[in-house]
Amino acid sequence: MTLEEVIVEGKKKCNSTIVKMLLASILNMNPLELLNNLDMKISSDLFDEFNQKLELFLSKKPIQYIIGNVNFYGNIFEVNENVLIPRFETEELVENTILYIKKIFGNKKINILDLCTGSGCIGLTLKDKIDCEATLSDISEKALEVALKNKESLNLDVNIVNSDLLNNIQDNFDVIISNPPYIKEKEEIEEIVINNEPHLALFGGEEGLDFYKKILSTCKKNLNSKYLIAFEIGIDQAEKIKELAIANFNKVNVDIKKDLSGKDRMIFIYN
Ligand code: GLN
Repeated sequence: MTLEEVIVEGKKKCNSTIVKMLLASILNMNPLELLNNLDMKISSDLFDEFNQKLELFLSKKPIQYIIGNVNFYGNIFEVNENVLIPRFETEELVENTILYIKKIFGNKKINILDLCTGSGCIGLTLKDKIDCEATLSDISEKALEVALKNKESLNLDVNIVNSDLLNNIQDNFDVIISNPPYIKEKEEIEEIVINNEPHLALFGGEEGLDFYKKILSTCKKNLNSKYLIAFEIGIDQAEKIKELAIANFNKVNVDIKKDLSGKDRMIFIYN
């Protein structure tokens, strides 16, 4: 079969964007290269692989897990069922955090801790974009295997530590950043999310605040005197997290920022 014939077959079952995404990843090409190689012969093994992946998509498995990677802030990160699929909102968290780091620390080399790192997307991106030392930690060893692969494929020198939040963290940091699990226990979320992504990375207790509470009540010992704490948050959690920050730190600045869809999505706590 030619590539063109495979595309025609695929389009009978699924929209052309997905067909091209799957073929591009199987053939290790970008979508434009596909169009330049429509006459290419596709072996029956590759055709079978394509069909299996198409079936997975039709059975409502996230395309990112099928393809096995995702573009985050310009880098390709491997993902699998052991890590949350990095979201666009988290790119916004990284982008805003970089602005805060410049504002607070100038060009000083800083030490960053990414808690609940999952795929490592936050900590590795910060390491890539700014002059810093970075430590990535997660309670899940399986998630850390993914973070390690991403560290290696991106060739970034970061520390990876298995820890339940700060329990196993000894160093001091200028910046602690986290996109912790923040969905409420009984919150209704999309089926494709609940059926596929790790619940350990999604749920943050009754009000979704458990991780913020634990981090804010224990992180002082790991912070330098000038610090920045940056969190991604759920849309109705900002005020409660602000209260938690004020209760745990005497003199502190707290800024709440909205994401591009206008929802409270980030909080920056700093002095
Ligand atoms: N830090 C990772 C991300 O932002 C994982 C977050 C999580 O597991 N809650 O994608």
